[in-house]
Amino acid sequence: MNKLSIRDLDLKGKRVFIRVDFNVPMNAGGQIVDDTRVRASLPTIQHAMRAGARVILASHLGRPKGGPDPQLTLQPVAVRLGLLLAKAVFFAGDCVGEEAERQAAALPGGGVLLLENLRFHPEEEKNDSEFGRRLAALAQVYVNDAFGTAHRAHASTEGITHFLSPSAAGLLMERELEYLCKAVESPAHPYVAIVGGAKVSDKIDLLQSLMRFADTVLIGGAMSYTFLKARGAEVGRSRVEVDKVDLARDLLSFCERRSINLHLPKDHVVAEKIDAAAAAEKVNGRDIPANRLGVDIGPATRSEYAAEIARAKTIVWNGPMGVFELDQFAEGTLAVARAVASSSAVSIVGGGDSVAAVIKAGVASKITHISTGGGASLEFLSGMKLPGVEALTDKRSAGRSG
Ligand code: AMP
Repeated sequence: MNKLSIRDLDLKGKRVFIRVDFNVPMNAGGQIVDDTRVRASLPTIQHAMRAGARVILASHLGRPKGGPDPQLTLQPVAVRLGLLLAKAVFFAGDCVGEEAERQAAALPGGGVLLLENLRFHPEEEKNDSEFGRRLAALAQVYVNDAFGTAHRAHASTEGITHFLSPSAAGLLMERELEYLCKAVESPAHPYVAIVGGAKVSDKIDLLQSLMRFADTVLIGGAMSYTFLKARGAEVGRSRVEVDKVDLARDLLSFCERRSINLHLPKDHVVAEKIDAAAAAEKVNGRDIPANRLGVDIGPATRSEYAAEIARAKTIVWNGPMGVFELDQFAEGTLAVARAVASSSAVSIVGGGDSVAAVIKAGVASKITHISTGGGASLEFLSGMKLPGVEALTDKRSAGRSG
């Protein structure tokens, strides 16, 4: 990674602004339902504390509509963080302004201050320059550990870096970039890309980008029916993007020309409708009856995909193989999750649904890297530049910027 890491910085006595992802699920009573994201940020926070920094933490929570919303305060997170750190965490009732500045200035070395929800100010998402400057006024050094929002140019992920230098990656961000960069820049082969989910149109960039490196592409989910249609198969009432059939045909012939091994389902699980009460029926062969729709990959496809996965040295997976939210249509996705987990390849799983599937299959600990940022990892693997990453100081220029 060519970006500066928090590990490269001398933090002693410095006020460090750390953009974290504390966007945790809360229940109606304002209690934290799942603190995984808070726990995930502990290594970076503890690193800064141990180094003697004065730690200022900022995050968004939910989608407040243009102003403060008591339902979306980060105060409960300050309490939870304090318990996890076994140390009092100070809380600032606004993320900018004199009071927050006073609290930041009063922090002792190793002290921690959590700022109120950044999105209580609409300027945050507008990447308003003055708001970025006001955030920057709190600190001397900037660290971004919120990979999940790095694909958005917001004041706390991009704008602030115009006023604070150096800007470094936190430990979580660094790990994300390490694995994702490797998958893009120097992957081991055979490289197997598994792409599923609802729509071809959402994954075109990802598919095109993965086709630059992949030896094998395994397609599943609703998007596979658009590809099957392009190959002339009967897809019944399956979800098809009619206006993307030509594009699917182009991608198929690109793969043929480049000798990329692109697999489509050769059998299916179908149903009368997508419904919790609908029965799962197996269809041998490629064609789906006119009165049925495809909801999962069939057993022969699962075995074929598992065999390809077993040969891989690099695996990137995004998107489920079927309507995995319903148990009777989840087997294909779970089978892929298990196959990825038992492979010795470097495996990267990104995207909320695929991550949910590896957790549901109980194999999360066997995946090399589970990306915390669905949209961000999709964009990164699709070859796009992430504003929140681009804004960080390059290692090469670090000497000059402090
Ligand atoms: P994505 O966000 O594009 O990765 O799509 C995930 C969604 O695709 C999940 O909610 C799945 O239920 C849905 N999905 C996967 N396979 C199918 C299918 N065969 N028919 C309809 N929806 C599907």
